[in-house]
Amino acid sequence: MKKALITGVTGQDGSYLAELLLEKGYKVYGVRRRTSTANYENVEHIKDEIEWISGDLADLSSLIEAVNKSQPDEVYNLAAQSFVEASWPQPLFTGNVTAIGVTNMLEAVRIARPAAKFYQASSSEMFGKVVETPQKETTPFYPRSPYGVAKLYGHWITVNYRESFDMFACSGILFNHESPRRGMEFVTRKVTNAVARIKLGLQNELRMGNLDAKRDWGFAGDYVKAMWLMLQQEQPDDYVISTGETHTVRELLEVAFSYVDLNYEDYVVIDPKFFRPAEVDLLLGDCSKAKQTLGWELDVSFEHLIHMMVEADIKRVLAEHKYRSEIITDVAVV
Ligand code: NDP
Ligand code: GDP
Repeated sequence: MKKALITGVTGQDGSYLAELLLEKGYKVYGVRRRTSTANYENVEHIKDEIEWISGDLADLSSLIEAVNKSQPDEVYNLAAQSFVEASWPQPLFTGNVTAIGVTNMLEAVRIARPAAKFYQASSSEMFGKVVETPQKETTPFYPRSPYGVAKLYGHWITVNYRESFDMFACSGILFNHESPRRGMEFVTRKVTNAVARIKLGLQNELRMGNLDAKRDWGFAGDYVKAMWLMLQQEQPDDYVISTGETHTVRELLEVAFSYVDLNYEDYVVIDPKFFRPAEVDLLLGDCSKAKQTLGWELDVSFEHLIHMMVEADIKRVLAEHKYRSEIITDVAVV
Protein backbone atom coordinates (compact mmCIF):
# COMPACT_ATOMS: atom_id res chain seq x y z
CA MET A 1 0.00 0.00 0.00
CA LYS A 2 1.39 3.43 -0.98
CA LYS A 3 1.71 5.99 1.79
CA ALA A 4 1.20 9.75 1.43
CA LEU A 5 1.85 12.56 3.90
CA ILE A 6 -0.22 15.72 3.40
CA THR A 7 0.34 19.06 5.11
CA GLY A 8 -2.63 21.44 4.96
CA VAL A 9 -5.00 18.46 4.84
CA THR A 10 -7.78 20.36 6.63
CA GLY A 11 -7.79 23.02 3.90
CA GLN A 12 -9.68 23.05 0.62
CA ASP A 13 -7.10 21.23 -1.52
CA GLY A 14 -5.92 18.92 1.26
CA SER A 15 -9.43 17.57 1.73
CA TYR A 16 -9.96 16.85 -2.00
CA LEU A 17 -6.48 15.34 -2.30
CA ALA A 18 -7.01 13.10 0.75
CA GLU A 19 -10.29 11.87 -0.80
CA LEU A 20 -8.55 11.14 -4.11
CA LEU A 21 -5.66 9.24 -2.48
CA LEU A 22 -7.97 7.23 -0.21
CA GLU A 23 -9.98 6.25 -3.29
CA LYS A 24 -6.74 5.09 -4.91
CA GLY A 25 -6.00 2.88 -1.91
CA TYR A 26 -3.28 5.03 -0.26
CA LYS A 27 -2.65 5.15 3.44
CA VAL A 28 -3.02 8.88 4.15
CA TYR A 29 -1.20 10.69 6.95
CA GLY A 30 -2.37 14.23 7.68
CA VAL A 31 -0.32 16.86 9.50
CA ARG A 32 -2.46 19.10 11.68
CA ARG A 33 -1.50 22.00 13.91
CA ARG A 34 -2.06 21.87 17.63
CA THR A 35 -2.66 25.62 17.40
CA SER A 36 -5.16 25.18 14.57
CA THR A 37 -8.51 26.87 14.71
CA ALA A 38 -9.56 23.18 14.54
CA ASN A 39 -11.86 23.53 11.61
CA TYR A 40 -12.34 19.95 10.45
CA GLU A 41 -15.42 20.70 8.37
CA ASN A 42 -13.69 19.83 5.08
CA VAL A 43 -12.49 16.43 6.29
CA GLU A 44 -15.29 15.50 8.68
CA HIS A 45 -16.47 12.70 6.34
CA ILE A 46 -13.00 11.07 6.08
CA LYS A 47 -11.42 12.00 9.39
CA ASP A 48 -11.41 8.41 10.68
CA GLU A 49 -9.60 7.20 7.54
CA ILE A 50 -6.73 9.65 7.98
CA GLU A 51 -3.88 8.95 10.37
CA TRP A 52 -3.33 12.28 12.13
CA ILE A 53 0.10 13.59 13.06
CA SER A 54 0.63 16.75 15.06
CA GLY A 55 2.97 19.22 13.36
CA ASP A 56 3.53 22.78 12.23
CA LEU A 57 5.32 24.05 9.13
CA ALA A 58 7.23 26.48 11.34
CA ASP A 59 8.62 23.65 13.51
CA LEU A 60 11.24 21.48 11.81
CA SER A 61 11.40 18.88 14.61
CA SER A 62 7.69 18.15 14.30
CA LEU A 63 8.03 17.70 10.53
CA ILE A 64 11.01 15.32 10.86
CA GLU A 65 8.94 13.34 13.34
CA ALA A 66 5.97 13.32 10.93
CA VAL A 67 8.12 12.02 8.05
CA ASN A 68 9.85 9.48 10.32
CA LYS A 69 6.56 8.17 11.60
CA SER A 70 4.80 7.94 8.24
CA GLN A 71 7.76 6.92 5.98
CA PRO A 72 5.75 8.25 3.01
CA ASP A 73 6.21 7.43 -0.68
CA GLU A 74 4.75 10.84 -1.52
CA VAL A 75 4.69 14.14 0.37
CA TYR A 76 2.24 16.89 -0.59
CA ASN A 77 3.15 20.23 0.98
CA LEU A 78 -0.11 22.18 0.84
CA ALA A 79 0.07 24.02 4.17
CA ALA A 80 0.47 27.79 3.98
CA GLN A 81 -0.83 31.14 5.11
CA SER A 82 -2.75 31.15 1.85
CA PHE A 83 -4.73 34.42 1.81
CA VAL A 84 -3.04 37.19 -0.21
CA GLU A 85 -4.81 40.04 1.61
CA ALA A 86 -3.65 38.77 5.04
CA SER A 87 -0.04 38.77 3.88
CA TRP A 88 0.30 42.59 4.08
CA PRO A 89 -0.68 42.88 7.75
CA GLN A 90 1.21 39.63 8.54
CA PRO A 91 4.26 39.61 6.24
CA LEU A 92 6.64 37.92 8.68
CA PHE A 93 4.22 35.16 9.67
CA THR A 94 3.48 34.61 5.98
CA GLY A 95 7.23 34.40 5.27
CA ASN A 96 7.83 31.99 8.15
CA VAL A 97 5.12 29.56 7.09
CA THR A 98 4.66 30.02 3.34
CA ALA A 99 8.36 30.49 2.48
CA ILE A 100 10.67 29.09 5.21
CA GLY A 101 8.09 26.39 6.00
CA VAL A 102 8.83 24.86 2.59
CA THR A 103 12.52 24.53 3.46
CA ASN A 104 11.52 22.97 6.78
CA MET A 105 9.42 20.39 4.94
CA LEU A 106 12.13 19.72 2.35
CA GLU A 107 14.73 19.33 5.11
CA ALA A 108 12.48 16.88 6.95
CA VAL A 109 12.17 14.80 3.77
CA ARG A 110 15.91 15.05 2.99
CA ILE A 111 16.83 13.94 6.52
CA ALA A 112 14.16 11.32 7.23
CA ARG A 113 13.02 9.93 3.86
CA PRO A 114 15.01 11.31 0.89
CA ALA A 115 13.47 8.80 -1.54
CA ALA A 116 9.97 10.26 -1.04
CA LYS A 117 8.47 12.22 -3.94
CA PHE A 118 7.68 15.81 -2.98
CA TYR A 119 4.97 18.18 -4.26
CA GLN A 120 5.09 21.91 -3.51
CA ALA A 121 1.92 24.01 -3.81
CA SER A 122 3.20 26.97 -5.83
CA SER A 123 0.92 29.69 -7.11
CA SER A 124 0.09 31.86 -10.12
CA GLU A 125 0.46 34.78 -7.67
CA MET A 126 4.19 34.43 -8.43
CA PHE A 127 3.46 35.92 -11.90
CA GLY A 128 1.89 38.96 -10.23
CA LYS A 129 2.40 41.97 -12.48
CA VAL A 130 2.51 39.70 -15.48
CA VAL A 131 5.23 40.16 -18.08
CA GLU A 132 3.52 37.97 -20.69
CA THR A 133 0.05 36.56 -21.34
CA PRO A 134 -0.83 33.75 -21.10
CA GLN A 135 1.55 32.73 -18.32
CA LYS A 136 3.43 29.45 -18.63
CA GLU A 137 6.33 27.64 -16.92
CA THR A 138 8.94 29.83 -18.63
CA THR A 139 7.24 33.18 -17.90
CA PRO A 140 9.40 35.37 -15.61
CA PHE A 141 7.96 35.97 -12.15
CA TYR A 142 7.00 39.37 -10.65
CA PRO A 143 5.14 38.82 -7.34
CA ARG A 144 2.96 41.66 -6.00
CA SER A 145 2.32 40.69 -2.36
CA PRO A 146 4.23 39.26 0.59
CA TYR A 147 2.31 36.04 -0.16
CA GLY A 148 3.52 36.01 -3.77
CA VAL A 149 7.09 36.69 -2.67
CA ALA A 150 6.91 33.87 -0.09
CA LYS A 151 5.53 31.44 -2.69
CA LEU A 152 8.34 32.38 -5.05
CA TYR A 153 10.88 31.43 -2.38
CA GLY A 154 9.02 28.12 -1.88
CA HIS A 155 9.11 27.49 -5.62
CA TRP A 156 12.83 28.11 -6.03
CA ILE A 157 13.87 26.20 -2.91
CA THR A 158 11.94 23.20 -4.30
CA VAL A 159 13.77 23.50 -7.62
CA ASN A 160 17.03 23.92 -5.71
CA TYR A 161 16.56 20.76 -3.61
CA ARG A 162 15.79 18.84 -6.79
CA GLU A 163 19.00 20.08 -8.40
CA SER A 164 21.20 19.96 -5.25
CA PHE A 165 20.14 16.68 -3.67
CA ASP A 166 18.65 14.81 -6.61
CA MET A 167 15.30 14.73 -4.85
CA PHE A 168 12.09 13.99 -6.75
CA ALA A 169 10.65 17.44 -6.04
CA CYS A 170 7.93 19.06 -8.19
CA SER A 171 6.38 22.50 -8.08
CA GLY A 172 2.79 22.84 -9.27
CA ILE A 173 2.10 26.41 -10.36
CA LEU A 174 -1.64 26.37 -9.82
CA PHE A 175 -3.94 29.18 -10.88
CA ASN A 176 -6.90 30.07 -8.61
CA HIS A 177 -9.08 27.09 -7.86
CA GLU A 178 -12.28 27.10 -5.88
CA SER A 179 -15.03 24.87 -4.54
CA PRO A 180 -17.76 24.83 -1.89
CA ARG A 181 -14.86 24.18 0.54
CA ARG A 182 -13.00 27.41 -0.34
CA GLY A 183 -12.28 29.72 2.61
CA MET A 184 -14.99 32.39 3.12
CA GLU A 185 -12.51 35.25 2.71
CA PHE A 186 -11.68 34.44 -0.93
CA VAL A 187 -13.68 36.33 -3.52
CA THR A 188 -15.60 33.41 -5.09
CA ARG A 189 -16.81 32.03 -1.77
CA LYS A 190 -17.48 35.50 -0.36
CA VAL A 191 -19.76 36.11 -3.37
CA THR A 192 -21.53 32.72 -3.41
CA ASN A 193 -22.12 32.84 0.35
CA ALA A 194 -23.52 36.38 0.02
CA VAL A 195 -25.76 35.35 -2.89
CA ALA A 196 -27.19 32.55 -0.73
CA ARG A 197 -27.76 34.86 2.23
CA ILE A 198 -29.30 37.63 0.10
CA LYS A 199 -31.60 35.15 -1.65
CA LEU A 200 -32.68 33.81 1.72
CA GLY A 201 -33.33 37.27 3.13
CA LEU A 202 -30.44 37.27 5.63
CA GLN A 203 -28.32 40.02 4.05
CA ASN A 204 -29.04 42.96 1.77
CA GLU A 205 -25.69 44.21 0.59
CA LEU A 206 -22.27 42.89 -0.40
CA ARG A 207 -19.18 45.06 0.08
CA MET A 208 -16.49 44.39 -2.52
CA GLY A 209 -13.14 45.69 -3.77
CA ASN A 210 -11.73 45.74 -7.31
CA LEU A 211 -14.29 44.33 -9.74
CA ASP A 212 -11.96 44.67 -12.75
CA ALA A 213 -9.38 42.12 -11.56
CA LYS A 214 -9.24 39.06 -13.83
CA ARG A 215 -8.59 35.52 -12.68
CA ASP A 216 -8.30 32.09 -14.26
CA TRP A 217 -10.64 30.17 -11.92
CA GLY A 218 -10.91 26.36 -11.95
CA PHE A 219 -12.36 23.64 -9.71
CA ALA A 220 -10.18 22.35 -6.85
CA GLY A 221 -11.37 18.75 -7.38
CA ASP A 222 -9.85 18.84 -10.90
CA TYR A 223 -6.62 20.45 -9.72
CA VAL A 224 -5.68 17.89 -7.05
CA LYS A 225 -5.63 15.25 -9.80
CA ALA A 226 -2.80 17.21 -11.43
CA MET A 227 -0.83 17.18 -8.15
CA TRP A 228 -1.03 13.39 -8.02
CA LEU A 229 -0.15 13.03 -11.73
CA MET A 230 3.02 15.12 -11.26
CA LEU A 231 4.31 12.59 -8.71
CA GLN A 232 3.57 9.60 -11.00
CA GLN A 233 5.98 10.75 -13.75
CA GLU A 234 9.45 9.30 -14.44
CA GLN A 235 11.12 12.67 -13.88
CA PRO A 236 10.30 15.52 -11.48
CA ASP A 237 9.32 18.79 -13.14
CA ASP A 238 7.26 21.96 -12.71
CA TYR A 239 3.84 22.48 -14.30
CA VAL A 240 1.29 25.25 -14.77
CA ILE A 241 -2.27 24.13 -13.99
CA SER A 242 -5.05 26.42 -15.21
CA THR A 243 -8.24 26.54 -17.29
CA GLY A 244 -6.97 28.85 -20.05
CA GLU A 245 -9.96 31.19 -19.50
CA THR A 246 -10.01 34.44 -17.60
CA HIS A 247 -12.97 36.29 -16.05
CA THR A 248 -13.36 39.56 -14.17
CA VAL A 249 -14.70 39.70 -10.63
CA ARG A 250 -17.67 41.55 -12.18
CA GLU A 251 -18.38 38.51 -14.41
CA LEU A 252 -18.20 36.31 -11.32
CA LEU A 253 -20.86 38.52 -9.70
CA GLU A 254 -23.07 38.34 -12.80
CA VAL A 255 -22.87 34.55 -13.01
CA ALA A 256 -23.51 34.03 -9.28
CA PHE A 257 -26.37 36.53 -8.81
CA SER A 258 -28.16 35.74 -12.08
CA TYR A 259 -28.24 32.03 -11.16
CA VAL A 260 -30.84 32.89 -8.50
CA ASP A 261 -32.51 35.59 -10.64
CA LEU A 262 -30.92 38.54 -8.89
CA ASN A 263 -29.06 41.55 -10.33
CA TYR A 264 -25.71 42.07 -8.57
CA GLU A 265 -25.91 45.86 -9.19
CA ASP A 266 -28.81 46.05 -6.71
CA TYR A 267 -26.64 44.69 -3.87
CA VAL A 268 -22.93 45.31 -4.44
CA VAL A 269 -21.31 48.31 -2.76
CA ILE A 270 -17.70 49.20 -3.53
CA ASP A 271 -15.68 49.51 -0.34
CA PRO A 272 -12.10 50.86 -0.56
CA LYS A 273 -11.23 48.64 2.42
CA PHE A 274 -11.07 45.68 0.00
CA PHE A 275 -8.65 47.28 -2.45
CA ARG A 276 -5.12 45.92 -2.14
CA PRO A 277 -1.87 47.89 -1.75
CA ALA A 278 -0.65 46.27 -4.99
CA GLU A 279 -3.02 44.38 -7.27
CA VAL A 280 -2.57 41.43 -9.63
CA ASP A 281 -4.70 42.70 -12.52
CA LEU A 282 -4.76 39.70 -14.82
CA LEU A 283 -4.00 36.00 -14.56
CA LEU A 284 -4.45 33.61 -17.47
CA GLY A 285 -2.59 30.32 -17.59
CA ASP A 286 -1.31 28.20 -20.46
CA CYS A 287 -1.30 24.59 -19.23
CA SER A 288 -0.34 22.91 -22.54
CA LYS A 289 2.65 21.22 -20.90
CA ALA A 290 0.46 19.58 -18.22
CA LYS A 291 -2.06 18.49 -20.83
CA GLN A 292 0.59 16.96 -23.07
CA THR A 293 2.90 15.43 -20.46
CA LEU A 294 0.53 14.51 -17.65
CA GLY A 295 -2.55 13.93 -19.78
CA TRP A 296 -4.38 16.22 -17.34
CA GLU A 297 -7.86 17.48 -18.28
CA LEU A 298 -10.42 19.51 -16.41
CA ASP A 299 -14.07 18.60 -16.11
CA VAL A 300 -15.72 21.63 -14.49
CA SER A 301 -16.26 24.93 -16.36
CA PHE A 302 -16.28 28.38 -14.70
CA GLU A 303 -20.08 28.69 -14.87
CA HIS A 304 -20.61 25.15 -13.54
CA LEU A 305 -18.18 25.86 -10.68
CA ILE A 306 -19.94 29.04 -9.57
CA HIS A 307 -23.38 27.45 -9.85
CA MET A 308 -22.16 24.48 -7.76
CA MET A 309 -20.85 26.88 -5.09
CA VAL A 310 -24.08 28.93 -4.98
CA GLU A 311 -26.15 25.75 -4.62
CA ALA A 312 -23.93 24.40 -1.85
CA ASP A 313 -24.06 27.70 0.04
CA ILE A 314 -27.84 27.89 -0.22
CA LYS A 315 -28.13 24.36 1.17
CA ARG A 316 -25.70 25.11 3.99
CA VAL A 317 -27.32 28.44 4.95
CA LEU A 318 -30.76 26.82 4.89
CA ALA A 319 -29.54 23.99 7.12
CA GLU A 320 -27.95 26.46 9.56
CA HIS A 321 -31.07 28.60 9.73
CA LYS A 322 -33.82 26.03 9.31
CA TYR A 323 -35.30 27.04 12.63
CA ARG A 324 -35.81 30.62 11.36
CA SER A 325 -39.33 31.03 10.05
CA GLU A 326 -38.64 34.16 8.01
CA ILE A 327 -36.39 32.28 5.60
CA ILE A 328 -37.62 31.68 2.08
CA THR A 329 -37.55 27.90 1.61
CA ASP A 330 -38.69 27.55 -1.97
CA VAL A 331 -35.49 28.57 -3.75
CA ALA A 332 -35.71 27.18 -7.26
CA VAL A 333 -32.14 25.91 -7.58
CA VAL A 334 -32.00 23.63 -4.53
P1 NDP B 1 -6.34 26.62 2.63
O1 NDP B 1 -6.12 27.96 3.21
O2 NDP B 1 -7.74 26.10 2.45
O3 NDP B 1 -5.57 25.53 3.53
C1 NDP B 1 -4.34 25.84 4.14
C2 NDP B 1 -3.96 24.69 5.06
O4 NDP B 1 -2.68 24.98 5.63
C3 NDP B 1 -4.93 24.47 6.23
O5 NDP B 1 -5.10 23.08 6.39
C4 NDP B 1 -4.18 25.04 7.42
O6 NDP B 1 -4.48 24.36 8.62
C5 NDP B 1 -2.75 24.69 7.02
N1 NDP B 1 -1.73 25.48 7.72
C6 NDP B 1 -1.64 26.83 7.75
N2 NDP B 1 -0.55 27.21 8.47
C7 NDP B 1 0.06 26.05 8.87
C8 NDP B 1 1.21 25.77 9.64
N3 NDP B 1 1.97 26.75 10.14
N4 NDP B 1 1.54 24.47 9.86
C9 NDP B 1 0.76 23.46 9.39
N5 NDP B 1 -0.36 23.67 8.65
C10 NDP B 1 -0.70 24.96 8.41
O7 NDP B 1 -5.56 26.57 1.24
P2 NDP B 1 -5.93 25.81 -0.14
O8 NDP B 1 -6.33 24.44 0.18
O9 NDP B 1 -6.79 26.68 -0.96
O10 NDP B 1 -4.51 25.81 -0.86
C11 NDP B 1 -3.56 24.77 -0.64
C12 NDP B 1 -2.18 25.26 -0.99
O11 NDP B 1 -2.15 25.65 -2.36
C13 NDP B 1 -1.73 26.49 -0.20
O12 NDP B 1 -0.33 26.37 -0.02
C14 NDP B 1 -2.04 27.65 -1.13
O13 NDP B 1 -1.22 28.77 -0.85
C15 NDP B 1 -1.72 27.01 -2.46
N6 NDP B 1 -2.42 27.57 -3.60
C16 NDP B 1 -3.79 27.67 -3.58
C17 NDP B 1 -4.47 28.16 -4.67
C18 NDP B 1 -5.96 28.25 -4.67
O14 NDP B 1 -6.50 28.91 -5.56
N7 NDP B 1 -6.65 27.60 -3.75
C19 NDP B 1 -3.74 28.62 -5.87
C20 NDP B 1 -2.31 28.37 -5.83
C21 NDP B 1 -1.69 27.88 -4.73
P3 NDP B 1 -5.41 24.96 9.81
O15 NDP B 1 -6.70 24.21 9.72
O16 NDP B 1 -4.63 24.57 11.02
O17 NDP B 1 -5.53 26.44 9.62
P1 GDP C 1 -6.16 35.80 -4.90
O1 GDP C 1 -6.10 35.84 -6.38
O2 GDP C 1 -5.39 34.66 -4.31
O3 GDP C 1 -5.82 37.08 -4.25
O4 GDP C 1 -7.69 35.40 -4.55
P2 GDP C 1 -8.92 36.24 -3.95
O5 GDP C 1 -10.12 35.40 -4.17
O6 GDP C 1 -8.65 36.67 -2.54
O7 GDP C 1 -8.98 37.57 -4.86
C1 GDP C 1 -9.16 37.50 -6.25
C2 GDP C 1 -9.33 38.91 -6.80
O8 GDP C 1 -10.59 39.44 -6.38
C3 GDP C 1 -8.27 39.91 -6.35
O9 GDP C 1 -7.84 40.65 -7.48
C4 GDP C 1 -9.02 40.84 -5.41
O10 GDP C 1 -8.53 42.19 -5.38
C5 GDP C 1 -10.40 40.80 -6.02
N1 GDP C 1 -11.46 41.20 -5.08
C6 GDP C 1 -12.37 42.18 -5.28
N2 GDP C 1 -13.15 42.32 -4.20
C7 GDP C 1 -12.73 41.39 -3.29
C8 GDP C 1 -13.16 41.05 -1.98
O11 GDP C 1 -14.09 41.63 -1.43
N3 GDP C 1 -12.50 40.03 -1.36
C9 GDP C 1 -11.45 39.35 -1.96
N4 GDP C 1 -10.86 38.33 -1.33
N5 GDP C 1 -11.01 39.68 -3.20
C10 GDP C 1 -11.66 40.67 -3.86
